[in-house]
Amino acid sequence: MKELLTPTFLMAQQQLDNVAKHLNVDSGIIERLKFPRKSLIVSVPIRMDNGETKTFMGYRVQHDLAMGPSKGGIRYYPGVDLGETAALAMWMTWKCSLMNLPFGGAKGGIDCNPAQMSEGELERLTRRYTTEILPMIGPEKDIPAPDMYTNEQTMAWLMDTYSNYHGYAIPGVVTGKPIGLGGSLGRTEATGRGVAFTVLKALEKIKTKYSQPTVVVQGFGNVGAITARYLYKEGFKIIAVSDIYCGIYNPNGLNIDELEKYVAENKTVRGFKDSEVITNEELLELKCDILAPCAIGNVITGKNADRIKCRILAEGANGPVTPDADEILNKKDIFIIPSILANAGGVTVSYFEWVQDIQRLFWEEDEVVKKLKTLIDKAFEDVYQLALTKKIDARTAAMIIGVGRVAEAKRLRGLYP
Ligand code: GLU
Repeated sequence: MKELLTPTFLMAQQQLDNVAKHLNVDSGIIERLKFPRKSLIVSVPIRMDNGETKTFMGYRVQHDLAMGPSKGGIRYYPGVDLGETAALAMWMTWKCSLMNLPFGGAKGGIDCNPAQMSEGELERLTRRYTTEILPMIGPEKDIPAPDMYTNEQTMAWLMDTYSNYHGYAIPGVVTGKPIGLGGSLGRTEATGRGVAFTVLKALEKIKTKYSQPTVVVQGFGNVGAITARYLYKEGFKIIAVSDIYCGIYNPNGLNIDELEKYVAENKTVRGFKDSEVITNEELLELKCDILAPCAIGNVITGKNADRIKCRILAEGANGPVTPDADEILNKKDIFIIPSILANAGGVTVSYFEWVQDIQRLFWEEDEVVKKLKTLIDKAFEDVYQLALTKKIDARTAAMIIGVGRVAEAKRLRGLYP
């Protein structure tokens, strides 16, 4: 239990307690939702390229299974622990529920530094980890996907390992796979696209007339770069972006098409033409209309929240704003699109991928995008209307809907035995 109750997990529990006050739900159901259904800690020993054997710690946590299999990514990141994985699994439950997907939440991770590992080491790590968590996963049980520093290739290794064990190809065991293995068109872009859709909806609601909204994006990975790409396509002015090394800033706007090509070649945003180098901290505090933290959690805290100067904050990353920062930002009338809505595009298209794999029937990309937009817009409307009616912030409204649906499913099923 001690391993589980880390500060991040306690924060997730606290959020659940706060939202429970708004819901007319039996306290026994909330008590059940406060803990993950199943957690597995595994050691993942692999042979490194230098011949030595090294052991990494891996985790897979299933938070809830009331409405279907559990769903959630696997991250490779230094310092991943059980508490963080469990908190993220809980947030996945609320996210899937808010989007009306027939899934509970899960999350996995390995405490490692993928930037310092070779392709071969990462493959051995993935295959051994998959073998260790194998009894827990499956298309009807728990379906992993990419998260921080994992990608299509990681999912292909996972699918191959799982399929080899069973003796036949089982594409539905993971989502975010390459198209050639049963992946879905539009999955890679889905999270960033979803962030952009929620920003457009927020602007429509706020009704401030911007001739060209200014945007700051933290992170230029799968979520940040694609969020920037779609907002740039909409004609927005992207004035700053960053990666793990630094931020770059140009008040007249960055050319995102050229920046994407530059990053593909140089692996960093540093050195891009006509831009000034700034720190990640400075980037978050720039004056802009839209701020999209799309990198890691806990970047806006009680320490810097009063210096944040945006009108809309779209949480592309999972949990970038801490609860104490939330209070400050709400007082400043910053409209926060909570991560369980803003970045739900990824898991939504994962759901489409799983459906296509099961049906062995694949959709065109425009169909995927259209369906994604319908679900995101609908969830946004539900959240916005509830926030207006109850005079609460969008995060609380999103949580009320997300937690409320899961609690109702649990009530209907009852407590076994
Ligand atoms: N890792 C992504 C998330 O946090 C996607 C999960 C999925 O597609 O299952 O939402």
